Amino acid sequence: MTLLQPPEPVLEIAQRLEADGHEAWCVGGAVRDAILGHPHLDWDLATSATPARVRELFGKRRTIPVGIEFGTIGVLDRDGRLHEVTTFRRDIRTDGRHAEVEFGASLEEDLARRDFTMNAIAYSPSRDEIRDPFGGRDDIGRRIVRAVGEPDARMREDRLRALRGIRFAARFGFTIDPATFAAIERSAPHLGRLSAERIKQELEKTMEQAARPATALALWKRSGALATLVPSLANLSDTTIAALDWLAMPGPERKPYRRIVRIALLFVELGERDARRALTALRFSGSDINRVAAYAGAWQSVGRAMGEALSDREHASPVETRRWVAATGRLNVAPFMRIASALWSARRDAGARMPPADRVRALYRGMLAAAARDPLELSDLAIDGDDLRAAGIPPGPVIGKILEALLEAVLEDPERNRPDWLLQEAMRLYQSMK
Ligand code: ATP
Ligand code: MG
Repeated sequence: MTLLQPPEPVLEIAQRLEADGHEAWCVGGAVRDAILGHPHLDWDLATSATPARVRELFGKRRTIPVGIEFGTIGVLDRDGRLHEVTTFRRDIRTDGRHAEVEFGASLEEDLARRDFTMNAIAYSPSRDEIRDPFGGRDDIGRRIVRAVGEPDARMREDRLRALRGIRFAARFGFTIDPATFAAIERSAPHLGRLSAERIKQELEKTMEQAARPATALALWKRSGALATLVPSLANLSDTTIAALDWLAMPGPERKPYRRIVRIALLFVELGERDARRALTALRFSGSDINRVAAYAGAWQSVGRAMGEALSDREHASPVETRRWVAATGRLNVAPFMRIASALWSARRDAGARMPPADRVRALYRGMLAAAARDPLELSDLAIDGDDLRAAGIPPGPVIGKILEALLEAVLEDPERNRPDWLLQEAMRLYQSMK
């Protein structure tokens, strides 16, 4: 008896294919994860049946041609979960990313075209039998990521495998077999072949999946992949990479948050403009770019002052605290402070004089309280431009300047945020500007 227990509906799909005279094997991530003892919901199958036969057998209503040119049909199980059923195939030509495939291959040939030994294990649910021609189980047991076959050739066929290998190593805490890592290093200069979308996707998956993403980024850097893929991060310091593992993150149920905060940490030190450029080149969404740019802008404008103040003094003053929240943006306080705190911790760990953790925590609490309570933005002021015009100040840039000055005064003392005080101060400023 093995550890492998695919869900009942997967067994049914396999049995249906076998009853029709074909082979049917569970393959890929689910088999690997089951051997590792991790749950995995998407059990994919490989079969000797042609894609057309798979569609006939399960009917149009239960199937979706998800990647029919590569032989993949999505089959819905009786619980409505989609499983990929892919016809055994062999590669006849590759261009460094895409393969031209041919059907009519055997299971062994199909496993031979997979990337790493841990991903090239097949399991028959109906016979409880394992086929593992490349020693994937041994490598899982030894916690090693190893290419199937000749590593250099495999990396040349598909440059994405270099990043996948690093991702699997970081995700499971495995080491990369030396010959495989050497091939990844030799592949690094050619990774420019990958599309921006792919690079972004790998970076995001790495940030979502790895418990300790610093390991992965250190390998991206050490292999040379980082310099090729994200030139603006070519000089990313080891301390910043280490900071990734200092990020205190809520549990796995907050994956999207974890993804963007980790990515932001990599880019904040570039400053707002260059962070924006780098993320645009990688085709990040507008909202992701705006978030990271906001954190990068805040780090640029107040990060150093915050770090120095907290290194020198026990407490930040209330005025400072409000200014920092205003610079950060009320809604950005939590993610920004997670990032700042991780960067400070990593630098402190590397021997630099940085704010102690308890002061950072106290500041964070102070900032959250100010964000919830104090006027911090122009829209929080008790008067607006219309009130200034009604008081006789002519429309134009003067109004904006006066509002900015009023906000400054209110950041210094929130008690001033009353229409009477603000109007009187506005008139005084207006007279002095005439
Ligand atoms: P995850 O849990 O991240 O989805 P996975 O192993 O299921 O991991 P997929 O990208 O879903 O990864 O791919 C499914 C399987 O297809 C892999 O396990 C591997 O056998 C094969 N595979 C995927 N991408 C490649 C590739 N670039 N080169 C060779 N084989 C690949
Ligand atoms: Mg998968």
